[in-house]
Amino acid sequence: MVKLKNKLRQARVFNLEHDRYCTDGKCACTDTVFDGVEPNYATGEHAYVRRPKRINATLRLTDREVKSGLRNTVLKCREIAGAIRLGNIQVLEQTTEEQVPGKRADSSTQGQGSSKSKKNRKSMSAKSDEPAGE
Ligand SMILES: [Zn+2]
Repeated sequence: MVKLKNKLRQARVFNLEHDRYCTDGKCACTDTVFDGVEPNYATGEHAYVRRPKRINATLRLTDREVKSGLRNTVLKCREIAGAIRLGNIQVLEQTTEEQVPGKRADSSTQGQGSSKSKKNRKSMSAKSDEPAGE
């Protein structure tokens, strides 16, 4: 999780690009439908189209606001990264985000055989052949 502070005395809105922000598997975008006339650049003609459209999520920070609990991928977004570089946004805190509380190879705590809480856990494998419903 990330905690950011807006160091400016003005509100800022940051675009959270799907291919950066949503890379942890949770899409935060809004799905909508584009419904309108669009130029066809090949022919120069305009045509009526209706197709799904994805709108990136945004992060809004008001004047000097501190916001915590943000997803780590927020730091990958271009506008945020740029603002951090410029010093307009400060990263107050960054912790590894919602790592599945399973074990990681870098665990250095030894001699603690904590095997509880692993038994009743259903595997979260993304199998698609599970019976849906009920
Ligand atoms: Zn997305």
